[in-house]
Amino acid sequence: MAARVLDGTAVANQIRAELAPQVAAFTARAGRPPGLGIVLVGDNAASEIYVRSKLKSAGEAGLRADLERLPASASLDALLAVVDRLNRSDAHDGILVQSPLPDAMGPEAERRVFDAVDPAKDVDGFHPINVGRLVQNRDALVACTPSGVIELLERSHVTIAGAHAVVIGRSDIVGKPMALLLLHRNATVTICHSRTKDLPAVAASADILVSAIGRPGFVTKPFVKPGAAVVDVGITSIADRETVARMYPPGTKRWETYQKRGALTVGDVHPEVAEVAGALSPVPGGVGPLTIVMLLKNTLAAATLRVAGGGG
Ligand code: NAD
Repeated sequence: MAARVLDGTAVANQIRAELAPQVAAFTARAGRPPGLGIVLVGDNAASEIYVRSKLKSAGEAGLRADLERLPASASLDALLAVVDRLNRSDAHDGILVQSPLPDAMGPEAERRVFDAVDPAKDVDGFHPINVGRLVQNRDALVACTPSGVIELLERSHVTIAGAHAVVIGRSDIVGKPMALLLLHRNATVTICHSRTKDLPAVAASADILVSAIGRPGFVTKPFVKPGAAVVDVGITSIADRETVARMYPPGTKRWETYQKRGALTVGDVHPEVAEVAGALSPVPGGVGPLTIVMLLKNTLAAATLRVAGGGG
């Protein structure tokens, strides 16, 4: 039996509809819309697409969204100065610095920039204060992708409490916060990574399997317990024919899309998993739309707290 689709687009639209009257009420009360400042450094093609889509969604939701652009040659000090200006701005409740930053800024740049964002405006949830608050299960601005996964599971009626949840990937922005959010909802959580022994067997013990590694088609049938809910966070654009054919052979609809575009956006989960999983989030149309809507939700939450606290 084919897995039920965990429809991220539908859930994101549902959340968007809930946010609309709240954004309108905030705007009427505060005399200004919730404001988001997005900082983009350099000209990474994928970042351009992500940022454009964040700006568009924010505008459609009634938020003020401003883009601050810096050239790839910008210094770290110049970037920190922009962050400082947004920290002090009354019109901006949320700040997002799009990663990755140019290599020329140095290996510590991302951490220094995320540390510099006012934790009250940290709508990406990357600041150590927000991460610490998440660890202790206190109110916090939480990273958008993992909190979007929770919305997807809960609104699709996947039971988290008591479930064995396996998260593949341990990054600061997805894997770790994902594991904590599941833990705080009373799942029994296992975190797997590139050094995990017998990963397929560990994954196959999961009732809820979340993959966030960025390896096309890595999660195949042997990784999945029959009936498990599988969430595919991975997003990779592939141009290589063989890799595409391994997931979507000639004759499939997605192969045709690949033929037309010369590249295909795919997830970590091989489509064959739909034959054993109970529920599965697609790529595209799964976690991606939720990441964006959670950014809007975090911006509204930050705005509401700032105004209540006398800021903005
Ligand atoms: P990352 O590169 O920072 O982390 C990848 C993690 O995967 C690491 O912890 C690593 O240990 C683990 N890993 C790598 N290879 C592995 C293997 N063979 N076996 C087990 N574990 C392995 O990546 P990230 O920023 O956490 O993103 C992960 C994926 O999620 C990427 O494809 C990214 O594009 C995608 N992503 C999607 C969204 C979205 O909105 N849907 C948002 C953020 C990230």
